[in-house]
Order: sequence, then structure tokens, then C-alpha cells
Amino acid sequence: MVEQPRVHVLVADDEPHIGRIIKMKLEQGPFTVTLAYDGREALELMESDPTIALVLLDVMMPYMTGLDVLARLRADDRWRHVPAIVLTAAGQEQQHKQAIELGANEFLTKPFSPKKLYARAAELTGVPTEGTGVPER
Ligand SMILES: [Mg+2]
Repeated sequence: MVEQPRVHVLVADDEPHIGRIIKMKLEQGPFTVTLAYDGREALELMESDPTIALVLLDVMMPYMTGLDVLARLRADDRWRHVPAIVLTAAGQEQQHKQAIELGANEFLTKPFSPKKLYARAAELTGVPTEGTGVPER
């Protein structure tokens, strides 16, 4: 079997269980997930690790919101083209519009389907979405 290179993903959410669920799901496939728990930590991790190829950002986080982090990424040539998925609680239509305007590639409302999240992460990073042996759930 050919070893597929792993795609490095940064997941920033201040609720640790959300990060854990996403990490568990994505690491069933060819992803390696690093977790951050606030917006400032997310930016620090981007600074220190140029291999991050996908970012998942919760909107409501301490120090900097996910939208603030996204704005910073899109204003910087190092990160302008790194795909970003924004996550938020239900009933935040205004955030959805802002996220898309700021350059988010996808917007998911909690509770989201881990399977759908995996599929979008795979599409955005060019990883096969089928035939990877990822269990259905
Ligand atoms: Mg939050």
C-alpha cells in the first residue's frame, strides 16, 4: 500500500471536546491535527509551523475571534491561500456572511456532521474522499 503524505491541519476551538471530535475524525484519514484553544494561540501556531495546509476556526474564542484570525490570515501572503473552514453556533447568519466576505472556503454550523466536515476538508486539500477506508458515521 502506498503511504499517503499526511496533511497538517490546525483546529482552533475554545471548547476542547469539539477539537477532540474533529481531531479523531480527521486522523482516521491522511490528516495530522494540531489543536489551539483561542485565536491568539491559533496565529502563534501558524507562525511557528509553515506546513499547516488547512485551518478550522471557531468564531467565538478568547483573545481573538475566528473571524479576526481569518482576516489576519487573508491579509498575509504566507497564508492568503490556505483554505479555511469557519465553525459557529446555530443562529449566527451574520457571521456566515462575514466569514465568506473575509475569504472563508466553508462555513459549518454546530452541531455539524463529522462526515461532512471530513469530506470538505478532503476536497479543500486534494485528499481522496473515497477509498480511504474511513468508516461511515
Ligand atoms: Mg467557541
